[in-house]
Amino acid sequence: MFELSKKAQDYAERTRKFILEEIEPVEGKFWEEVHELNPDGNWKKWQWPEFLETLKTKAKQAGLWNMFLPDDKLGAGLTVQEYAHIAELTGRSLLAPTVFNCNAPDTGNMELLWRYGSEQQKQQWLLPLLDGKIRSVFCMTEPDVASSDATNMQATALIEGNEIVLNGKKWWSSGLGDPNAKVIIFMAHTPDESKDRHHQHSMVLVPIDTAGVEIQRMLPVFGDYDAPHGHGEVHFNNVRVPLDNFIGGAGQGFEIAQGRLGPGRIHHCMRCIGAAEKALELMIDRGMSRTAFGKEIIKLGGNLERVADARVAIDQARLLTLYAAYKMDTLGNMAALTEISAIKVVAPSVLEKVVDMAIQLHGGAGVSRDTPLTGFFAQARSLRLADGPDEVHKGMIAKLELAKRGYGRHKKV
Ligand SMILES: Cc1cc2nc3c(=O)[nH]c(=O)nc-3n(C[C@H](O)[C@H](O)[C@H](O)COP(=O)(O)OP(=O)(O)OC[C@H]3O[C@@H](n4cnc5c(N)ncnc54)[C@H](O)[C@@H]3O)c2cc1C
Repeated sequence: MFELSKKAQDYAERTRKFILEEIEPVEGKFWEEVHELNPDGNWKKWQWPEFLETLKTKAKQAGLWNMFLPDDKLGAGLTVQEYAHIAELTGRSLLAPTVFNCNAPDTGNMELLWRYGSEQQKQQWLLPLLDGKIRSVFCMTEPDVASSDATNMQATALIEGNEIVLNGKKWWSSGLGDPNAKVIIFMAHTPDESKDRHHQHSMVLVPIDTAGVEIQRMLPVFGDYDAPHGHGEVHFNNVRVPLDNFIGGAGQGFEIAQGRLGPGRIHHCMRCIGAAEKALELMIDRGMSRTAFGKEIIKLGGNLERVADARVAIDQARLLTLYAAYKMDTLGNMAALTEISAIKVVAPSVLEKVVDMAIQLHGGAGVSRDTPLTGFFAQARSLRLADGPDEVHKGMIAKLELAKRGYGRHKKV
């Protein structure tokens, strides 16, 4: 059921080789330069190390570019399941998704524009994004309301004549600090009494330099600004854009969000599994290379058992994720709601547990920047919140289970 086509196998092999030969050797240098260039939360000074552009060009020339997009001409034309294998490989490195133009939130935003954007929106924003020339931001979460319930949203997108007027506060907007970030997808309330509560929200394209778009601050994750990508708080004060900037029309926001988050979640989860594999490898190598009390560290106490626990957990998570991808490919995103929520709960937690064990086995080195482990830990912990906290996904799974027994509003799927 999870066998890869020849085409996907070829992409996977070439991606693995490129990461090994081109990315891993420069990763340490990359993080050193990033921390030198971007020492603090002042996003106006943030920049990417120059050699990253060279690496991106090399990846593009090798055809290892936009592999997430299920379009034969603009992307690799892989199925969700096939791309899941590639995303796992890119997850082994914190840098690889950016090098291959396969990083969040741009992948979700590009797929959204590809699916729902008008021809003009595609020309103006999708093509430069696919080219890797510009970056994008997705603004849904708000500081003043519990945003895990999207119907709480207070920001507004109101129609005035031939313009949309935007007001509201957003935060945890990923990619906001990127010097190449040029466009925001802003989700907001567009009240319409004639429609139900799931048709009261819209998505609007906003050039980042539009008057009234005010970046307030960048937010550190466990003290690290994740620069020059960054996560920030941005306020919209009477921002005016043309009516054409609605994506898919006013009131389509929820429907589009559902379409955006399904594949995006699979990508996140497979990257988690790749990161967990890498953490386990680092844990074993470290444990075999140091001795204490007359034995390799890995053979002390319950450490071997932890290695086995990690292997079992990673394989379980991978199978569940591939199953979700398989259902999305064969039955569509709506039929895979349970599985998408299930992997969103499982994969970040597995990564969190495996990385925690790997950090422990590394001793002090585990919490330094000498390994990617702290980056993986921040990724795992944040993902238990981002794209919906664990509890919300469990709530969704439970609702669907009750519906199978005829209780509640959800249809049987
Ligand atoms: C690193 C990072 C990057 C992010 N990137 C983006 C981005 O690019 N764009 C964007 O729009 N957002 C982004 N987010 C925001 C993220 O999606 C939200 O933080 C998340 O949806 C939760 O919303 P909230 O923070 O308002 O938490 P709240 O809604 O206030 O929830 C807080 C807690 O309440 C509990 N809770 C909520 N609902 C339930 C329930 N039904 N049952 C039981 N307990 C519940 C959970 O423990 C939850 O964690 C990012 C977040 C992080 C940390």
